[in-house]
Amino acid sequence: MLEEAAKLLEEQPLCDRCLGRLYARLGRGWNNKDRGRALKMSVIMWLHREAAEGSVDAKKRFRIVASNAGEVGRELYKHLYGEDPGEARCRICGSMLDKAIGELAEEAAKVLRLYDARKIVVGARVSQEILEAEDEVKARYGIKYGESIKAEIRREVGKLLRDKHGYTIDFDEPDAMVIVGFPSLTVEIQNNSLLLRGRYWKRGRMISQAYWPTPSGPKYYSIEQAAWSLLQLTGGETVILHAAGREDVDARMLGTGRPMILEIKNPRRRYISLGELEEAANKGAPGLVEFRFTGRASRRDIQIYKEEAQGKAKVYKALVLLEEPVDRDRLKAAVDTLKGATISQWTPRRVLHRRRNLLRRKKVLDMDCTLLHSNLAECIIRTEGGLYVKELISGDEGRTSPSLSEALGVGATCVELDVLGVEAPDIELLEERGSK
Ligand SMILES: [Zn+2]
Repeated sequence: MLEEAAKLLEEQPLCDRCLGRLYARLGRGWNNKDRGRALKMSVIMWLHREAAEGSVDAKKRFRIVASNAGEVGRELYKHLYGEDPGEARCRICGSMLDKAIGELAEEAAKVLRLYDARKIVVGARVSQEILEAEDEVKARYGIKYGESIKAEIRREVGKLLRDKHGYTIDFDEPDAMVIVGFPSLTVEIQNNSLLLRGRYWKRGRMISQAYWPTPSGPKYYSIEQAAWSLLQLTGGETVILHAAGREDVDARMLGTGRPMILEIKNPRRRYISLGELEEAANKGAPGLVEFRFTGRASRRDIQIYKEEAQGKAKVYKALVLLEEPVDRDRLKAAVDTLKGATISQWTPRRVLHRRRNLLRRKKVLDMDCTLLHSNLAECIIRTEGGLYVKELISGDEGRTSPSLSEALGVGATCVELDVLGVEAPDIELLEERGSK
């Protein structure tokens, strides 16, 4: 290994880091600068001894190595022979890497502070020229225990940010990724969203979930718009609602509220208490849209919320207008045939323009109707997730069967619909149990 290192240093200049990096996987708990420095000192001591014992060849090699090794050999050579061998620039990094690592960490710390990021990961972008120079040296000497310059920059800048500036390196859920460039000395940020887990209530009708802009203004007021009040507090750019399912625009969401994750994109402040966040969110549309936050969420929770929501049971309250008066017994008999029944349902006509036409079979888990007037009833219905309730009432011209209309033999329309209960995805239940 000493001979290999001597050959490397005779054939090209290498800084401590770039030499040490070729042996990065040998030894533990040292950095590449230590490795490079140790190899250089060993090579120089060896050549010093050979030269001291009269080898002219060793003295010649010493002069080349002293120049290529930089300060550690140059000073000794000057002292011994009274001649300055000079100092050549590192073949791979131009002798800029060591200083760059420190500068990049300082700059990254400054930028990260602007984004209120505390948990971070570091990425590195390195010029093609430098990557090629490194590969060439590795290939020429058959280097087997090295690492890449990118890995070294990522790790060393990360270490400085952690030890000197107090950042936490977190590969799973970082607040931000900081990408440092070499030799460009650029610092870029990928600022991750702030994700809040909780529920929303919609106490009015004609409110959509997503912001729905049209040339003449938003189509409906939306839950997302109500949450815009969070942008001032967080300095974020926009809010996206990821909900466990959705109710119709004209249906209210009462009772348990609907589980959701609110995503605030590109926030400038993220370490804010849930109470403060909730207070800001609820200033958006008081009395109309209400939020409750139970914790922070991770990116992969969003998928779980969306997927699991489909299978969960839902509870609805429907106000049903009948085309003819019916009596209590007739209504009860019809409702009894639907309790526990499996409903065959083709995609409702009202959503056919945006949903595929397919047949689904969903169960009515429980149902109870009260006659408010001879042609007006209020029904509480518990169903498997994914059953269209308005069509369970009307029958949708035979596309949903059985239906309340079919069972009664009387036309029936759902004139008002409220969602009363949405079960939480399992992940939320687990966390609630865990926090108790
Ligand atoms: Zn170098």
